[in-house]
Amino acid sequence: MAGSKFSYVRNFELPDPLLPDTYIVFRLDGHSFHRFSDVHGFVKPNDKRALELMDQAALKLMEEYRDIVLAFGESDEYSFLLRRSASLYNRRETKIVTTLTSFFTSSYVFMWHKYFPDTPLQYPPSFDGRIVLYPREQHIRDYFSWRQADTHINNLYNTVFWALVQQGGLTTTDAHGTLRGTVSKQKHEILFTRFQINYNEVDERYRKGSVIVREEVRPTSSRASIDAVTGENAEESTVPDRLQPKKKKSKDKAPTQMTLLHCDIIKDDFWIARPEILAG
Ligand code: ATP
Ligand code: ATP
Ligand code: MG
Ligand code: MG
Repeated sequence: MAGSKFSYVRNFELPDPLLPDTYIVFRLDGHSFHRFSDVHGFVKPNDKRALELMDQAALKLMEEYRDIVLAFGESDEYSFLLRRSASLYNRRETKIVTTLTSFFTSSYVFMWHKYFPDTPLQYPPSFDGRIVLYPREQHIRDYFSWRQADTHINNLYNTVFWALVQQGGLTTTDAHGTLRGTVSKQKHEILFTRFQINYNEVDERYRKGSVIVREEVRPTSSRASIDAVTGENAEESTVPDRLQPKKKKSKDKAPTQMTLLHCDIIKDDFWIARPEILAG
């Protein structure tokens, strides 16, 4: 189509390519979810429904974007690793950040009713998104270790804090005061001596966060796997094929499936077992 006399304004749009051959980490985080969780009655310290909804939105995103090989989620945030050779949208930063953030957000809203059937959305939630590039494998290991360490620190604090409030009858101000200056060992002790809670027995979902790995489909996988399209347990799906959402045809690419785990990703074992994640 011929350009009009106005089309020169296009020249003001600057290209924003991401450096080639670097790992792309895309992280999104709920905007003002402290308020959002209050307004929608999230259970404290951890609302399982809300975490599962985040996981399902992340799975939908990974189904849509094959370049994502790993994801890690906690609270209202999710991080996604794109393989270093990714050529998605010609590596245009704004295009990637906006479309992925938007897709995740609309998936969250789309599936809200499944996880909160009795809680209508009071207003539209939103997420911010950003991309950080990392040149080396060690950076990626450290990035994901950073997020999982953050999960541990926050969850330990929140678990003791809400035990003091909900079971101990303290005000939130007093609970913060009690915890001020305490180290991890003291928090474990408060939980155990006052509330008979052994922190190490708290659900791994809360202590470790959510890890989603993309793996090539192996015919005899024994682990519980999540169907890449529906997000349901692939082995247990009872929906007839004709009613399943259309799966993407990938001519020369091996079929993959996403597996949701709540495991340690700081130690070496996770990465040694899955060399393909960092292989690029
Ligand atoms: P910002 O817009 O700067 O991100 P925020 O209010 O979202 O502000 P965050 O640091 O992202 O602040 O923290 C998210 C907050 O959302 C948590 O502190 C917690 O109160 C709440 N939250 C998120 N997910 C859950 C959940 N699954 N269960 C209970 N509370 C949650
Ligand atoms: P990209 O992802 O690159 O933006 P696109 O398919 O969205 O690709 P656009 O250039 O944004 O391409 O064009 C949007 C297209 O969507 C239009 O060409 C038209 O076919 C369709 N479309 C959008 N809005 C309407 C509408 N209100 N009525 C009919 N068709 C529409
Ligand atoms: Mg937030
Ligand atoms: Mg957050």
